[in-house]
Amino acid sequence: MNMVTKARFGLSGIQLAVHVGTGSQKAGGALLEIHSPIDGELVAAMNMAQAKDVPAVIDAAKYAFRSWRLVPAPVRGEFVRRIGEKARVRKADLAEILSNEVGKTTQEALGEIQEFIDVCDFAVGLSRQLHGLTIASERPAHRMMEQWHPLGAIGVITAFNFPVAVWAWNAMLAFVCGDTVIWKPSEKAPLCALACQKLVNDVIAEFDVVNIKGLALSSVIVGMADVGEALCSSPEVPLVSATGSTGMGIAVAQTVAKRLGRSLLELGGNNAMIVAPTADLEMAMRAIVFAAVGTAGQRCTTLRRLIVHRSQHDALVEKLKKVYSNLPVGDPRVPGNLVGPLIDKAAFDSMQDALTQAKAEGGKVFAGERVEKGVPAKGYYVRPALVEISAKAKIVQHETFAPILYVMTYDTLDEAIDMQNGVPQGLSSAIFTSDVREAELFMSPAGSDCGIANVNIGTSGAEIGGAFGGEKQTGGGRESGSDAWKNYMRRTTNTINYSQELPLAQGVQFNV
Ligand code: NAD
Repeated sequence: MNMVTKARFGLSGIQLAVHVGTGSQKAGGALLEIHSPIDGELVAAMNMAQAKDVPAVIDAAKYAFRSWRLVPAPVRGEFVRRIGEKARVRKADLAEILSNEVGKTTQEALGEIQEFIDVCDFAVGLSRQLHGLTIASERPAHRMMEQWHPLGAIGVITAFNFPVAVWAWNAMLAFVCGDTVIWKPSEKAPLCALACQKLVNDVIAEFDVVNIKGLALSSVIVGMADVGEALCSSPEVPLVSATGSTGMGIAVAQTVAKRLGRSLLELGGNNAMIVAPTADLEMAMRAIVFAAVGTAGQRCTTLRRLIVHRSQHDALVEKLKKVYSNLPVGDPRVPGNLVGPLIDKAAFDSMQDALTQAKAEGGKVFAGERVEKGVPAKGYYVRPALVEISAKAKIVQHETFAPILYVMTYDTLDEAIDMQNGVPQGLSSAIFTSDVREAELFMSPAGSDCGIANVNIGTSGAEIGGAFGGEKQTGGGRESGSDAWKNYMRRTTNTINYSQELPLAQGVQFNV
């Protein structure tokens, strides 16, 4: 549906003229131009889909679902295994597109594609483990059991900053669960989506275990928020998994709830690390810098608040200032550069606004300025900022999607945990301590209220094997590992009577 009319950079054989499912209608919506955040250059242009195009895509995905749900789950696993194999072969190409499209360093882009590959492997194993329980019945000669069945054609809406991994967490699990997937990628990162769709289309075309040719198991619709809204409002889409800002999540949740559909929300974070008196400062410093400045502060799990024990504060801040002054900021494709560009001017402006507000609230701002020397001309490059500020400042409550690290001090662990939990978001958290009591308290019911609580590890860079997601305004969803697959299936409870009587539950008598 979205035909790329112009595309640049080493796509090395990934043909970007991609279709929705296997049809090839041309989209008639507005022209979308994709400028690389690295240098502002136009890298591609395509016509977007519109809300009115969505029902046809849903129909095709629903039609495909009718066959796909009957394919044995391990065969669906084989399908995902082949997607993973293609991703392995094209890892460098995909990483190159990703780096060019969203400005990640090559290392981080390779890491994101590896996440795609890892979740394929995970899903293949899962395809033989989608099992339910056998439950003791209270009635003689009866058996109860649970089964997990495929859900339908599901919607996946993704953010710009993890354009491949988040889709893969959802889609690979959904495929083995027997669902078909309609993907609405961020309008800031459609090329990654089209490249991934191309891999999946190739696997569909070559698949020789069952005939799935022509089936829209996977579809991509490039469009703006109205296209996402059309997916959310359709009663034909039983689940919408949406990743993005909290504002977007609230809109999605309301639209989906109005028709009593299911939503799985992965929204903004405001992640903190506590650095305790017994912390290994050298290790903490390395973890802080990766979590705070990696991906130029544009991860949902980016470290945004550092809560440091008063005894460690001065030494740690001094170390951090030294490291921050020397961070290699520049073209993310150049080996050695650790901080690439912000996604666009709006991101730069919101970073500068946040720093202005922090100053107005008494914050001491170190760095945060635009870098213009030694970087490609039209990109928005910044030196990551450190801001010493009170935990009571209002700006600290917000997720500013840029590399700003707010530093605060504490005296008791209870106070630190209150500060850590005292924001509306609840995604990721960490403590650096060598004291086992502190570590256990931090992970206990009286500790961090986040979906992720780490000890002696930073807030970002989660592994795919765990359930990923957060509480409060982060939306409550869990994706990727553990039992997140249950989101993509429906549960049926079956009671089977193999006696010749018809006893009723709870001993109820009803004789006719
Ligand atoms: P965004 O909210 O601007 O957009 C995300 C997606 O939602 C896009 O595809 C957009 O077109 C779509 N959208 C926007 N409004 C919509 C609506 N009303 N209905 C349906 N779809 C709509 O987010 P972004 O700037 O692309 O990404 C950054 C945000 O995403 C940050 O807040 C970050 O923390 C969050 N994020 C969260 C996670 C997580 O797992 N928790 C992961 C990555 C990013």
